Amino acid sequence: MKKLPLFCVCMCTAFFLQSWGFYAHKLIHEYAIYTLPTDIALFFKFHRAELIERAVDADKRVYVHDDEGPRHFIDIEDLIDKDLESIPMRWVDAKEKYGEEKLKETGVVPWQIYRSYIQLIEAFKSKDESKIIRTAADLGHYISDAHVPLHTTKNYNGQLSGQIGIHAFWESRLTEMYGNEYNLLVGKVEWIEKPLQRAWDIVKSSHILVDSVLNIEKSLSESYPKKEQKSYIKRNNQVIFNYSDIYAKAYHEALNGMVEQRMRNSVHQVASYWYSAWIEAGQPDLSSLLKKRKKSKPDSKKETQSLDMHKERKH
Ligand SMILES: [Zn+2]
Repeated sequence: MKKLPLFCVCMCTAFFLQSWGFYAHKLIHEYAIYTLPTDIALFFKFHRAELIERAVDADKRVYVHDDEGPRHFIDIEDLIDKDLESIPMRWVDAKEKYGEEKLKETGVVPWQIYRSYIQLIEAFKSKDESKIIRTAADLGHYISDAHVPLHTTKNYNGQLSGQIGIHAFWESRLTEMYGNEYNLLVGKVEWIEKPLQRAWDIVKSSHILVDSVLNIEKSLSESYPKKEQKSYIKRNNQVIFNYSDIYAKAYHEALNGMVEQRMRNSVHQVASYWYSAWIEAGQPDLSSLLKKRKKSKPDSKKETQSLDMHKERKH
């Protein structure tokens, strides 16, 4: 990992802690579980509370593991020669072209998705309950991060365009304000035939939206009264100076459903990757794992808390 001054490390830590927002990550996992077909859904529903809670483990690890940070993003512009297709899809080819050190600086999220996917297949094959949960939670996290446009650009926090703060604005503030209104029921899962290719497709579909995320806010800020753009707001039981509610509403409307669409896609892809890993592992019968735990019931307290979290926001 590149050596950063302490200030940058602190800034990066703060940045990662806000990645997709903890609320959004948990919501994506919750709805991904609802999306799974019966054969696999029983196991995931049984462990629902843990899968939701651990949706943000990967962000917490950024604090303690040097290798963790780059797994959540990719600065596409720093890898492009001519166009997006000039970036090698496979890790070995990319490593040969750019060198591992550079890739650790520019981020590795598409390769990390593939790596976690392979780990999940192995976990299913070995029927290792805790490994399945841990790996599925991490895989879901990386897939979700790859859906955020600002996770695919070196201008990840608007620091190159005079829009510092836009990262958390787009992915945390807006989802906390409007996530409860989104329709996250996305229909059936899909068998993913080419998981590495799909990870790149997700990254590219996010990167295409980077200009819109930035330009829409830029033009809104130029047409909106400056003193109304920010205000003191209450967030996570703290009063902070941040984008005002009315400005957030205006930005959300101007984005025209983009945040909801990216969250919907995240739910669908997370469920589809989980399902595909299970198929690839030979569709192991997970009910035997549940039978072993017949006497120990799921953590109903946690489950209720999680449900309440979403219900509260609906009202
Ligand atoms: Zn993350």
